[in-house]
Amino acid sequence: MFTTHDDLTAAQVIALENGHLIQTYARAPFVLSHGQGMTAFDTEGKAYLDFMAGIAVNALGHADSGMAAVLAEQANKLVHTSNLYYTIPQAQLAQKLVKNSFADRVFFTNSGTEANEGAIKFARKFARAAGSDHKTGIVCFEHAFHGRTMGSLALTPKPQYQDAFKPLMPDVTVAPFNDIAALETAITEDTCAVFIEPIQGEGGIHPANTEFLKALRARCDAVGALLVYDEVQCGLGRTGDLWAYTASGVNPDMMTLAKPLAGGLPIGAILATERVAAVLKPGDHGSTFAGGPLITAVANYVFDRISQPQFLAHVRETGEYLKERLEEINSPHIVEVRGRGLMMGVEFDIPSADVIKKGYDHGLLMVGSGQFVLRVIPPLIAEKQHCDQFVERLGQILTEL
Ligand SMILES: *Cc1c(COP(=O)(O)O)cnc(C)c1O
Repeated sequence: MFTTHDDLTAAQVIALENGHLIQTYARAPFVLSHGQGMTAFDTEGKAYLDFMAGIAVNALGHADSGMAAVLAEQANKLVHTSNLYYTIPQAQLAQKLVKNSFADRVFFTNSGTEANEGAIKFARKFARAAGSDHKTGIVCFEHAFHGRTMGSLALTPKPQYQDAFKPLMPDVTVAPFNDIAALETAITEDTCAVFIEPIQGEGGIHPANTEFLKALRARCDAVGALLVYDEVQCGLGRTGDLWAYTASGVNPDMMTLAKPLAGGLPIGAILATERVAAVLKPGDHGSTFAGGPLITAVANYVFDRISQPQFLAHVRETGEYLKERLEEINSPHIVEVRGRGLMMGVEFDIPSADVIKKGYDHGLLMVGSGQFVLRVIPPLIAEKQHCDQFVERLGQILTEL
């Protein structure tokens, strides 16, 4: 029987990884073994205050007992069935997402990039179903991040991510973000969909402003293009609202979700209006694993917790406190603090990688967003005391750099 070797030293694990994995990740120089709430521990027993939540995924923190109970219960009942069969947790999760959003129907995926791939396909089918064979263009924005597979990669205009893998999916136009005047030339009668993050995550924590989203909606309607919100990172409570888009009052035609939806298990979703969903027929799209009973049972639990008004109010309140505390840090290295809820960006005049690296010595897990921006995206259960600890340690790090 295979057993995990808890007796391996960190150096042995790192050597194993370096010798056997395809080296696409630059990892931190320690091995995480377990966590509790806001804290993750490495194999040497060192504690790290987690202010990156597995890249905005671990909304309920580590080892949430309620989530673990649902996971164990469902694991003992039914893990996987394929999508040839109905299951209870999938149907219930879909109902919850629909009931709490603009959408009428849901398609489940296994990740964020797959959700965007699906949305690309749905938009193409929607245009074709209306007889508009020429309408294949997709518009995205500068600094967008929509994923790493061939379709969504084409909507992620970063040379470092794209160049080695060309040719990408054709018919993509990249427009400047928050630039109303540029919409008219970028979005045309040949555009079937426009993808936008209401708050750009990986691109540096840049919120789309309300006037821009209104103009974007109007331009999409004028040419018959679908508006697709990618809320993979900014959705599901991260901003203190269930969805980032509701603050603008501008509804999309489709919305993609993923990161925190099952609290750390892989899942994604495409939410769509009936008008869009109606063009999709059995066989048009599918996935072996997606929306399986184990993942969706956990996602039901996570969604119930996140969508509670008190939970969201807590995120808003903690987020405001965090922003105030971040703004109080007196360091010449800080250029700007921006963002909403527990999705904050701190822009430095030095590489964020230097700050993150020093953070390991200070017991902090952090993640960057572009070269100079630190993404402050703790688990949504963070409390003021955690913000105090974080800000104190960050301030200390900045005096050392
Ligand atoms: C992370 C992310 C994705 C990709 O999600 P994966 O699960 O890594 O494929 C897509 N869009 C946004 C906005 C993201 O933050």
